[in-house]
Amino acid sequence: MIERAGGSAVRIPAARMLIDGQWCDGIEGRLIAVHDPATEEKIAEVVAATAADVDRAVQAAHRAYESPSWQKMRPLDRGRLLERLALLIERDADDLARLETLDNGKPYGVSRNVDMKFAMDALRYYGGWSSKMAGEYIQLSPFFDDGGTYRAYTERRPVGVVGGITPWNFPLGQAVQKLAPAIAFGCTVVLKPSEEASLTTLRLGELILEAGFPEGTVNIVTGYGHEAGQALVDHPLVRKIAFTGSTLTGQKILAASARTMKRVTLELGGKSPTIVLADADLDQAIPGAANAIFPNSGQVCTAGSRLLVEASIFDEVTQGVARLAQDLKLGSGFDPLVQLGPLVSARQLDRVSALVAKGIEEGAEPLCGGARDAGRGYFYRPTVLSGGRPDMQIAHEEVFGPVVLAMPVQDPRDIKALANDTAYGLGASIWTRDINKAHLLAAQLDCGTVWINTHNVLDLAMPFGGTKLSGLGREFGTEVIHAYTEPRAVCMRLETSAFD
Ligand code: NDP
Repeated sequence: MIERAGGSAVRIPAARMLIDGQWCDGIEGRLIAVHDPATEEKIAEVVAATAADVDRAVQAAHRAYESPSWQKMRPLDRGRLLERLALLIERDADDLARLETLDNGKPYGVSRNVDMKFAMDALRYYGGWSSKMAGEYIQLSPFFDDGGTYRAYTERRPVGVVGGITPWNFPLGQAVQKLAPAIAFGCTVVLKPSEEASLTTLRLGELILEAGFPEGTVNIVTGYGHEAGQALVDHPLVRKIAFTGSTLTGQKILAASARTMKRVTLELGGKSPTIVLADADLDQAIPGAANAIFPNSGQVCTAGSRLLVEASIFDEVTQGVARLAQDLKLGSGFDPLVQLGPLVSARQLDRVSALVAKGIEEGAEPLCGGARDAGRGYFYRPTVLSGGRPDMQIAHEEVFGPVVLAMPVQDPRDIKALANDTAYGLGASIWTRDINKAHLLAAQLDCGTVWINTHNVLDLAMPFGGTKLSGLGREFGTEVIHAYTEPRAVCMRLETSAFD
């Protein structure tokens, strides 16, 4: 147990892994220390899984996948497993949210009302899909006449064993986002959370056992990406990798997957623009632009990290966003008044600090923030940089921190080019009162999601993913069926003379 302010006692899961329905140690016994990002105190250890550990987990997932009982399980009953898990998360949501806050740093209110709610919703949303897999019935046109008539049908088959590799910004939500569709569509899973934030995924393992998931259907290995993650990607029995994380790691996974021709879905980085047109309702657009970047301390792949504002309202908008940023209270996620927690790790703090320092060196002017917070913990002050130019490094690299770069737009006809001037293509928001401008501009943006007069609204019913270096494939919505299943065509010949 770890004690935190406000009398919160947080139970820490043991440093073990879930393989074949059993909690077990790593073969080599190596452990990784886990730190509270708000205090830098060591709070736990997790196993550093080796390739041999990953092999055990994949073999278990493969046996579970091939087992007659899993193959024959009614789709509705797979959905019931997910519903039972949702009910257990609901029961333990306060505990799980405290653990997420301790491990990741985000404010408890966010862990409880965003992360836990998303996890429960995702289990229920995908649970519903389990019984809705359907194929097609197709009439064929053979180029020969053998006295028969040809028909075919397709059925959607689960891809098999899925490797789910997840990041640290929404740890429990991301784990559920990978396991729920896999189970719904009849796959089995090996999850590998980020070593920066594995604890709620391990607690999820306890609930998976309690919910009665058959042995081996969900396995959890912890450890380093280059070791455990890589072993999962290289394993020939893993048929698909579902990954969320950096573009660089996504590229490595894509290249490595070629060897075994794995299916991959990659949900990667972004440099999403928040576009404020001169006719926007600024009472909405200014808080909207702040909300696009600062929640979760900017560690959100769709964060609006480039603020493109028409020149006539540039000062009013940027100063308004800076005022809101300055008012945000930074501190321990266990303090109910805190709005921004720390960044997840010292490494992430160094990365954000270096990118902002380089931006300032290149001529950006901080209207607020621009530095880490004094004292212990990986805190970075919410930052608005004005005077942005497209040639700056910070205009192109994902910061993944509470930092927005503002750029004035002199001519509205330049907006499309400026917005699309990025290697990424995840999201964008447009703030305007003019419905014509909103839809015409939306059609010109090269990205997976465009929001109009809002930002960061993700919904399980709406497909989510990116173009360009932001990824491959889509999660959520009906699109997810294609990510976890493949069609199998069955072709038959009917004897036309059967009733002669
Ligand atoms: P990574 O992409 O390295 O980590 C994401 C996951 O991939 C983790 O579980 C990681 O394991 C694992 N991983 C790392 N290397 C490999 C590999 N070779 N094969 C298989 N799995 C691997 O992100 P970082 O934590 O390094 O963060 C760096 C940057 O990535 C951030 O600053 C941000 O810009 C971006 N990012 C984007 C996210 C998004 O939501 N799109 C989420 C997180 C980060 P482990 O962490 O244990 O090494």
